[in-house]
Amino acid sequence: MTRTTATPTSTSSSRGFTGDGTHNQLNPMFARVGESIDFPLDELPQHESLPETAYQIVHDEAMLDGNSRLNLATFVGTWMDPFAQKLYAETADKNMVDKDEYPQTAAIETRCWKMLASLWNAPDTANAIGTSTIGSSEACMLGGLALKRRWQHARRAAGLSTDKPNLVLSSAVQVCWEKFCNYWDVEPRYVPITDEHRVLDGHDLDKYVDENTIGVVAIMGVTYTGMYEPVAEIAAALDRIQTQTGLDVPIHVDGASGAMIAPFLQPDLVWDFRLERVHSISTSAHKYGLVYPGLGWVIWRTVDDLPSDLVFDVTYLGGHMPSFALNFSRPGAQVLLQYYLFLRLGWEGYYKVQKTTQDVAVYLSGRIGAMPAFDLWNDGTDIPVFAWQLKAGYTDKWNLYHLSERLRLKGWLIPAYPMPDDLTDIVVQRIVVRNGLSRNLAESLMNDITEAVDYLDALEAPMPTEGLVSTFTH
Ligand SMILES: *Cc1c(COP(=O)(O)O)cnc(C)c1O
Repeated sequence: MTRTTATPTSTSSSRGFTGDGTHNQLNPMFARVGESIDFPLDELPQHESLPETAYQIVHDEAMLDGNSRLNLATFVGTWMDPFAQKLYAETADKNMVDKDEYPQTAAIETRCWKMLASLWNAPDTANAIGTSTIGSSEACMLGGLALKRRWQHARRAAGLSTDKPNLVLSSAVQVCWEKFCNYWDVEPRYVPITDEHRVLDGHDLDKYVDENTIGVVAIMGVTYTGMYEPVAEIAAALDRIQTQTGLDVPIHVDGASGAMIAPFLQPDLVWDFRLERVHSISTSAHKYGLVYPGLGWVIWRTVDDLPSDLVFDVTYLGGHMPSFALNFSRPGAQVLLQYYLFLRLGWEGYYKVQKTTQDVAVYLSGRIGAMPAFDLWNDGTDIPVFAWQLKAGYTDKWNLYHLSERLRLKGWLIPAYPMPDDLTDIVVQRIVVRNGLSRNLAESLMNDITEAVDYLDALEAPMPTEGLVSTFTH
């Protein structure tokens, strides 16, 4: 990028445009050395610059990312209160791995996962084990690794081969599970979703599970649509398989979003450690845990569900502390932010925040579902996320990608994308409602959607479809 501006001038004495021709065009605030010359942006500059200058450049480029609060594509938190911001700034230097140097942060990490173990109904929190992670991806990797190692131990003990582990999951899993299978040489066995079985629900599971199955992944809050997979039904199907074949296949619940919604909004739904088959649960604290990225959690129902040969000992206050993680160094501030929120909100506070978020989602899905152009896929009553498709035969002038583009003109990021196997011919559009999308903003969004649809409907010829592809990834 080339900056063509006036000659350098001082920042403090100038009082704006002087008309003398020496520093015209330029707001004097922006007329420091380094801002009025070519500034190399993609190579290490030879010389220093003023911190103000470097700051301004980075700040301005970050501004071009758009407004994160209008990003209804992401599940990841984009708002925290001023006390959280203050705490974040105070603790940005903490390294999670330095348990000996930051024993209090380590103790707080343990308190947090114990609270979660209890929230997820672990039979005995004293006998559960868990850890913070950088997000759900790392948490899922750890959950998957524990399943794989447990299976390997059992196979070896029985003198059987460990050559061909497989994992059974929905075709609508988040990409981290594809990575897990790829990185750790596990065969993924995808159960395709269909119109009849919109989520993994245990049907035909016996066709996928065999002696080499290390586990089944159940998703609480499928990223494509926000729907819960019925973990209890999946567990019941695995119970039947065990009765028939003797195979004892555990479940990892990927609760990236739902594990921080269901305990508050659907407390009677049985999806967690109340089901014995659920060995481990993971979540993204930076989704509905309401913390800034990146923080996740993974918890095993008992210490026996996490094979001890995966756990490393780190010295801690002269003693020892178990550690199971992919990273070594990792920020500790987010753990403190999570603890702050647990103390600040408590169960009731989390309930109120999540309920309000869901009310907004249900309001939006009600309005969108009532429009003649759309059919709802779901309504946001599981996690506050819902998707819709264009009603068959409604129009040949535009599609959901066009609507997505129109809304982008107003700053809203609302992706359209094809569903996974076996529904790839269906394109949906999805809204993720998070804390921070107020009812008032939601009403503005509805005005913008209505206006965009009116515009598209009024076209005399179809919108071009050339080059229209979804670049959205889950
Ligand atoms: C977001 C998500 C993940 C990945 O979580 P990160 O915290 O972004 O690593 C995994 N599974 C599901 C179901 C998700 O929604």
